[in-house]
Amino acid sequence: MDFSGWEKLSLVDYDDNLTTTLFMAGCNFRCPFCQNSDLVLHPEEAPKIPWEEILEYLKKRQGVLDAVCITGGEPTLMPDLLEKMCEIKALGYKIKLDSNGSNPELLKKAAREGLVDYFAMDIKNAKEKYPLTCGLKKMDLSKIEESVSFLLTSGIPYEFRTTIIEEFHDEEDMKKIGEWIKGAERYALQLYIDSERCIERGYHSIPKEKAERFLEIVKPYVKHAKLRSYE
Ligand code: SF4
Repeated sequence: MDFSGWEKLSLVDYDDNLTTTLFMAGCNFRCPFCQNSDLVLHPEEAPKIPWEEILEYLKKRQGVLDAVCITGGEPTLMPDLLEKMCEIKALGYKIKLDSNGSNPELLKKAAREGLVDYFAMDIKNAKEKYPLTCGLKKMDLSKIEESVSFLLTSGIPYEFRTTIIEEFHDEEDMKKIGEWIKGAERYALQLYIDSERCIERGYHSIPKEKAERFLEIVKPYVKHAKLRSYE
């Protein structure tokens, strides 16, 4: 399976690392506020980037680029993801893997095989609001819970993150999320921006003052909590 999007140089996806970011088309969630509607809703129409072209790029930039970020869509749905990650690792790159947490088996396998340097997992909302926030009628929340528990204890660097939106999140949700991910290393509350690329239009970002209140609620539960893109 091919990747469908490629940001050849990113300075913001993985800390201070010079990163190239690969996007996979397709997702098992339908978060209404998703910014990648083209990749999620119409994966069959998405471009297909030859894997050899990506490998060639990575070979030429060994020692220049630091890392590869693999994102989506939901990259853990890619059938040959681990093989591709092996090839990236063999070239000496660090790998950051983004996930919605629905495939804990894959996360564990990637970790066991030493293929991941950093996980970033979405916490969409408090547990009882999860299906609503993911745009699903029902879902197996135990998979998400398993991924959270795994990241909390795997020893591999990670972050949890929530894109906060007026229509979906309130202070009570923040408290419940904090209790759920208690002890986590890093947690980011991310600014939502309505755009033409969203699955549904018309949702509202949380103003900075309110986001700062959210931050104060989650801070006691995690080691490093911050707002992202609110600067
Ligand atoms: S926000 Fe992430 S998990 Fe949700 S539909 Fe988009 S790609 Fe999938």
